[in-house]
Amino acid sequence: QKVKEKQGKEKKMHPQPVFEKERDVLRLRNKTAVITGGDSGIGKAVAIAFAKEGADVVISYHEDDEDARSTAARIESIGQKCLLIPGDISKPAHCKKIIEKTLKQFGKLDVLVNNAGIQFPQEELSAITPEQLKKTFDTNIFAMFYLVQAAEPYLQEGASIINTTSVTAYRGSAHLLDYSATKGAIVSFTRSLSAYFAKHKIRVNGVAPGPVWTPLIPATFPPSHVSTFGSDTPLGRAGEPVEIAGSYVFLASDEASYITGQVFHPNGGEIVNT
Ligand code: NAD
Repeated sequence: QKVKEKQGKEKKMHPQPVFEKERDVLRLRNKTAVITGGDSGIGKAVAIAFAKEGADVVISYHEDDEDARSTAARIESIGQKCLLIPGDISKPAHCKKIIEKTLKQFGKLDVLVNNAGIQFPQEELSAITPEQLKKTFDTNIFAMFYLVQAAEPYLQEGASIINTTSVTAYRGSAHLLDYSATKGAIVSFTRSLSAYFAKHKIRVNGVAPGPVWTPLIPATFPPSHVSTFGSDTPLGRAGEPVEIAGSYVFLASDEASYITGQVFHPNGGEIVNT
């Protein structure tokens, strides 16, 4: 009897876990999400998957208007709203603009997906110029700081940040020396940021995809690499963007309310040393 009473008291001390409440059929209903690089590849798949789960989506993208417009049309055909914001996220003022426009249009920000990234494969270490190094760090990691700084005043309890890192953060890559260094920094940033935001009940997680068929691959790797891309994974193939998007949906949803500071590994089965 005493044990039962004690258990009853303890239960009252904790908020009711979200999954014990009646759950909405749509896992991201009424949420507003910003997705950088949401016009292409993994980000585009995430944007569409979020819309299918009931989220309105803000897509930040760099250059290709056509991709962005077709993604927005797809999201609107699902019945969700989509705001397109072109521009360079390596500029702090632009990151501020993304957050301000989101607030103006939707009045809130529930999910920030820091996904945009670039890479410049190289053969030799000496081939990496200071300009390339700066551009890679500016786009892949500095932009995450700018966006999170701009978003911080508006993030409420229950909000979620998801950062795209890479399998290369864990196993390294001889041909992506600067890129993999930025991806390693994203893992550390994600962990530290989760500790920073925990007191406000804001969750921060990462996704570390393995090889994924996106426009980035043929645009940056030589054909010899593209023809065998992903064949060395245990599943023997590269993933499709839609196979990566589910991790983001789950991490953004209230079903993941007890998960923060973690990195998910949709990578075709490669066991990474975390
Ligand atoms: P992608 O080239 O299809 O998409 C990247 C998008 O980032 C672009 O569409 C662009 O709009 C955006 N972007 C780039 N620079 C920008 C800037 N300065 N300002 C604003 N937006 C900018 O590539 P993807 O493969 O879908 O990559 C998405 C993320 O996934 C990246 O962070 C990448 O490093 C990561 N990733 C990809 C793979 C893979 O195999 N494709 C594997 C692991 C991690």
